[in-house]
Amino acid sequence: MKEPTLGNPQNTIEILQKYGFSFQKKFGQNFLIDTHVLDKIIASANITKDDMVLEIGPGIGTMTQYLACAARKVVAVEIDKALIPILKDTLSAYDNVTVINEDVLKVDIAKLAEEYNGGRPIKVVANLPYYITTPIIMGLYENHVPMESITVMVQKEVAERMQSGPGTKDYGALSLAVQYYAEAYIVANVPPNCFMPRPGVGSAVIRLTSHKEPPVQVDNEKLMFQIIRASFNQRRKTLANGLNNSPEILLSKEALIRAIESLGKGSGVRGEALTLHEFAKLSNMINREM
Ligand code: SAM
Repeated sequence: MKEPTLGNPQNTIEILQKYGFSFQKKFGQNFLIDTHVLDKIIASANITKDDMVLEIGPGIGTMTQYLACAARKVVAVEIDKALIPILKDTLSAYDNVTVINEDVLKVDIAKLAEEYNGGRPIKVVANLPYYITTPIIMGLYENHVPMESITVMVQKEVAERMQSGPGTKDYGALSLAVQYYAEAYIVANVPPNCFMPRPGVGSAVIRLTSHKEPPVQVDNEKLMFQIIRASFNQRRKTLANGLNNSPEILLSKEALIRAIESLGKGSGVRGEALTLHEFAKLSNMINREM
């Protein structure tokens, strides 16, 4: 298969000029122009010739070329229709790539895994559009897309949030979701000069390897995430008040306080002090009483 031609500033500029492409800020377009970073992403995603890879936001097809060389099949979802003729050109030498011109948040990814991978777990690899990082990641997990891993470029702060634990300012619903579904590992920090145009923030590549079994036993997953969201929506309120104000949690304040106290916590504790294990226990208690 043909070696990648993209991944450096000259070839990127050449393609952009050939098609008179102008960057759209609203789509979070920052294209990779550094082959070392591309090699590192591909290596850390552990792609084999058996794999189907979903790429979110292929841009001009830079990482797609690398993925096509490493994987059996690449399905790439790109929202910007101005990029579609460019992708046709830059990916013409690769017969294992399918490009879909859609908003990834509207695509049924589990169906793609069924269609192109017989329902077996896929690998997601992307340099994500930063404005929708959280909905993309949460959507993949909450819709139970069969996945082995997600290896993505995200804003550095978001990578840190995904890895943080109780009591830190970065700890929140995203940290807990990531912990529940996967093992997180920061592969590399990536400075703005590796992109065109340069983003105003630092970036990091993070790999989320799906757990075989969740680390905690939860009777009602949906309720646990409603509880987690309710406790972080009002960060400065006590956990009891946060939960009591949620329309989804149908328990009296007294019953909520009893459940919180049975975790060995004071009634004035805040949600940010609870571990995933404690949220799981609390959710199981609330589920039984609701
Ligand atoms: N993968 C390319 C690279 O690394 O050079 C481009 C990465 S760029 C950070 C993000 C890409 O996601 C852009 O091509 C952008 O048009 C696309 N994008 C933005 N929002 C999207 C959405 N909702 N669905 C699909 N693609 C989207």
